[in-house]
Amino acid sequence: MTADWWKLAKTRTLAPWLAVCVLAGSLGAPSAPAWGCKGHQTVAWIAEKHLTPEARQMVQKLLGDNPMDPKLRRWCGNATTDLIVDASTWPDDVRNERKNGPWHYIDIPRGKHNGELDGYCGPEGCVTRAIEEQRVILKDKSADPLKRAEAIRYLIHFVGDMHQPLHAISNADNGGNCVAVKYFRHEALPNALHPEREDYSPNLHQIWDTEIVERDMEISNPLRYADELDEKFHAESAAWEAAGIHVDNWAWESHERAETAAYHAFQEKIGIEPGVKLKSCADGNHMGKRMFDKQLAVGETYQSNAARAAQTALAEAGVRLAMILNEAAKAVK
Ligand SMILES: [Zn+2]
Repeated sequence: MTADWWKLAKTRTLAPWLAVCVLAGSLGAPSAPAWGCKGHQTVAWIAEKHLTPEARQMVQKLLGDNPMDPKLRRWCGNATTDLIVDASTWPDDVRNERKNGPWHYIDIPRGKHNGELDGYCGPEGCVTRAIEEQRVILKDKSADPLKRAEAIRYLIHFVGDMHQPLHAISNADNGGNCVAVKYFRHEALPNALHPEREDYSPNLHQIWDTEIVERDMEISNPLRYADELDEKFHAESAAWEAAGIHVDNWAWESHERAETAAYHAFQEKIGIEPGVKLKSCADGNHMGKRMFDKQLAVGETYQSNAARAAQTALAEAGVRLAMILNEAAKAVK
C-alpha cells in the first residue's frame, strides 16, 4: 500500500497508473510510496528548525560522507541541495529493490483503539519497528557509517510516513488504496490496464498522500509551507517535545486521525471490514467495487477538515523527527 504524500505530482501529469504499477511492483498490493514528495520535504524542513547544533553536525557529516548511489533514479528529482530534505524521499526510491515496502506503514485494523502494536507488525516488519531498528543503528558509533547514513534517511522518511494517517490504518482496503474517491472534479477511474483489479484513481490513500496537502499548499513550496506550519504550531510543539519519544503512541494518534478525518468524515458510512490484507482490491468480496459503488466524494468541507489534520500531522512529524535525531546525537557522544 502507500503512495507517499508528496510524490505524485509527476505521476499525475504523465501516466498515473504506470507509476502506481511500477511502485506497486513487487509488493503485490496496489500501492505507490507514502506522503508525496512535497509532504516528506515539508517534514524535513520543519525538523531542520528543531535540530540541536550537534545533531545537525552529525546528520550533515554522515549524509555528506556517504552519498546516495548517483545512478539511483530519484522519483522526486534532484530539486534540492539540502541533504536532509533530499534524504526525505530516498526510502521510496529503494523500496522495491530492497523489498522493504512494509517498513513504510502499519496496518492497524479499523476499530482498534489501543494496546500492543506487535501483532499488527507482520513478519516483514512495519513502520514502528523500522523506526526503532534504525534508531539503534544510528546510535551505534561502531556501526558501518553507510548504514548509519541510511538509518538517518530511513528515519527522516518513516517518521513522516507514520504521520500520514492512512499509513496507520487498514479496513481490509490496503490503507485506503481500495477506496475510490472523487476528488473535487477529478472522477475516480478504474485502472485502464487492469480493470479486474478493481483499483481506482483517485482513491482515499492517494488523496491523503498528495492531493490534500498540495491543494492546501496552493502555489507555495515545501520550505515556505514548513515555515508557515512551524509558526502556526509553535505553542503545540513545546508540548510535543515535552511528551518525549513514544513511537507506538504516535502510531495510535495517527490511527485515530485516520478514523476521524479520513473515514468518518464522509457522509456515507464506511463500515468496519474484517482486518485482512488484500492481494488485490477485487478480493474481500469485491472491496474495490463495493467502495466505488458508494460514490464517495471530497469537496470543500472534507478538504478543509482534512487539511487541518494533515497540517497537524506534518508539524508533529517534523518536531518528532528532530527529537529522534537530537536524542541520537546525544547518545553517540
Ligand atoms: Zn514511504
